[in-house]
Amino acid sequence: MKRLFCLVLICLASTLNLALGQSGSAVPPYKDSSVPVEQRVQDLLGRMTLQEKVAMLAGADWMQSVPNERLGIPSIRMSDGPLGIRSWSGPSSEMRAEDAKEKVQTTAFPAGVAMAATWDTELVQSEGQAIAQEMKALGRDMILGPTVNINRTPLWGRNFEGYGEDPYLTSRLGVAYIKGVQGEGVIATVKHFDANNQEFERHRINAVVDERALHEIYFPAFKAAVEEAGVWSVMSAYNKVNGVYCAENPFLLKDTLQKEWGFKGFVVSDWGSTYSTAATVNAGMDLEMPGGEPAKNWLKKPESQAAGNGGAWLAPEKVLADISAGKISTATIDDNVGRILRVIFVSGQFDKPHHKPTGDVDTPEQRAVARKGATESIVLLKNEGAILPLDAAKIHSIAVIGPNASVAQTGGGGSSLVAPKYSVSPLKGIQDRAGQSVQVSYALGAAMETKNGGKGTPEEQEHLRNEAVSAAAKADAAIIVVGRSPKLESEDFDIKTLDLPAGQDELIEAVAKVNKHTIVVINAGGPVIMSKWIGGVPAIVDMWYGGQEGGNAIADVLFGLANPSGKLPVSFVKRWEDSPAYGHYPGKNLQVEYAEGIYVGYRYFDKKNVEPLFPFGYGLSYTKFDYSDLKVSADGNKPITVSVQVRNSGSRAGAEVVELYVHYDGHSSVDRPVQELKGFQRVNLAPGESKAVHFTLDKNATAFYSTAKKDWVTESGQFDVLVGSSSRDIRAKGSFGVGIAR
Ligand code: BGC
Repeated sequence: MKRLFCLVLICLASTLNLALGQSGSAVPPYKDSSVPVEQRVQDLLGRMTLQEKVAMLAGADWMQSVPNERLGIPSIRMSDGPLGIRSWSGPSSEMRAEDAKEKVQTTAFPAGVAMAATWDTELVQSEGQAIAQEMKALGRDMILGPTVNINRTPLWGRNFEGYGEDPYLTSRLGVAYIKGVQGEGVIATVKHFDANNQEFERHRINAVVDERALHEIYFPAFKAAVEEAGVWSVMSAYNKVNGVYCAENPFLLKDTLQKEWGFKGFVVSDWGSTYSTAATVNAGMDLEMPGGEPAKNWLKKPESQAAGNGGAWLAPEKVLADISAGKISTATIDDNVGRILRVIFVSGQFDKPHHKPTGDVDTPEQRAVARKGATESIVLLKNEGAILPLDAAKIHSIAVIGPNASVAQTGGGGSSLVAPKYSVSPLKGIQDRAGQSVQVSYALGAAMETKNGGKGTPEEQEHLRNEAVSAAAKADAAIIVVGRSPKLESEDFDIKTLDLPAGQDELIEAVAKVNKHTIVVINAGGPVIMSKWIGGVPAIVDMWYGGQEGGNAIADVLFGLANPSGKLPVSFVKRWEDSPAYGHYPGKNLQVEYAEGIYVGYRYFDKKNVEPLFPFGYGLSYTKFDYSDLKVSADGNKPITVSVQVRNSGSRAGAEVVELYVHYDGHSSVDRPVQELKGFQRVNLAPGESKAVHFTLDKNATAFYSTAKKDWVTESGQFDVLVGSSSRDIRAKGSFGVGIAR
């Protein structure tokens, strides 16, 4: 009798589209976590009114989507990234005062370009995981990162946020970051899709990019994010690509993202980057941010007005009007809303919303990831006479000099800038490491230039320089920390010049004259021009923006507690005029032609025989690595594998980044780069230790994007495998053939 009753109840429940929950009470399928996600999405869509659906297409405010209390749909609470959780206090609030409601201090991780210099995918994954754990501790669900836009020009104000100039390196690191974040059930947002490679006129500029360059340079990191990391959200960029704003660009969002790559998540607009209603909704731009009051305020801003009022286009009344006018179909609304719902289910946020904070921010583990990143990212650019590491037995006094020495410049400016609980300046790090026997003095040396060009009078600069020179003259070694600041390198504007800020070149020249143990530390998000003084200083080290632990990391490297094992993820030019984009940046009449096509970064320097100051992948070490026994195995249809033996033949422990490039030696039907990065591994080796490093080439390692076939194509012929310590320091070679008799 009891069994019969249960059976009747189950039948009844299924007729009513209900299921029995654990408590025995009836729950609708969308609320039942055991029901497949697609079914939950469809069930929930079936219960929503058109008004309720449309309400979800624009945000509730600055950082939240619209919840639905009747049906129990939680809002998605977002936070800026990608270099940690952007805090609502500290310098970043100057840009976005609207956010100042909450004040949190979180871990400031090194800049993206610094994390790229580690070439350490495992570490980047731990960074993603640590950030996601902090997100959960703050009751938030979606981090606005990673930034995977390519460094097309060294003047882009946001180069520091991304992973450099190479699509393969950027893809690997982007995938690692997303896996780290989403493994914790937090939504990652890969941004900014696409061709957002300059801040100049970012709200209005039209990036004219050829199809091959899109597929080979500006798409791969987004494609990998979708196909390999299963990213749940993609942010559309502010700019236009080939004449159409990214947020209403069917080629980008429908044809490429959805159809070609099979993206199932949702697209969020960059803040205030929508410019139409029907075109945006129909193109597959699912969630407009911000929404509500902040959207209205945004519209009053000059940059929004200058951009033809970007933002507030998906407000419910506008979308409903376009549905009534037949410009948007209800099926499209279902698809767009369904994408948001799918992510809410898949990420686990429906069943276990993060709104109840769990865990902590700035834990010892999170700090350790930041510290490891900062240390691993440091690139030794010059070390004449092995002046580094500093020898405590010989050096008894150090003059620490420079505008970036006593201030911790943790990151560049704008929405990615994190206000941490603490940060360690290079001066503090050096003082802590120097120990009792070494005297550390400090001199500012040059006043830091301000955004509007303020730089102290010539007399003031001379006075500061003289102070530094006299400190340096008395010391056994001088460490000059120079570079930029978030006021000079930031979102919202491009870098004015690759020269160091005012007074810094002169400072280095003057100090180097009085102290032959002068070490220059660069603290910036990318290359700076060094021509005036590079020949006069024995050592140069790049510490990028190292996050809150940057000062400890640089001190560890200077004193030899850590080996510098970072490698450049961007080529350093001798002069701006050598840059691939020179002459085609920042564009004219709101249009920038990517005339260099696929020849970005080292692809350009190799092709045009231009010698960079420091090539892509370059970085010295305190120890030495020998390469031998390169073996290539090309066995029929199996993936090509490569192995090489790498030995630490020096006397210190250290990591080597082993880089693998592929060169096509056949008769190509199209122009191809001289070589392209297709593999890398960071290996730790004790002195005397040797390891076999293995690579498996993916199917695109030999291919180019054919605009005729609209696909990746490998042509027959011989391919050379070039393995080495930088793109211009190849230590072992091999080859394999495709489609040719062996
Ligand atoms: C930036 C995005 C950021 C958003 C929200 C925009 O200005 O381009 O990267 O996530 O603001 O702060």
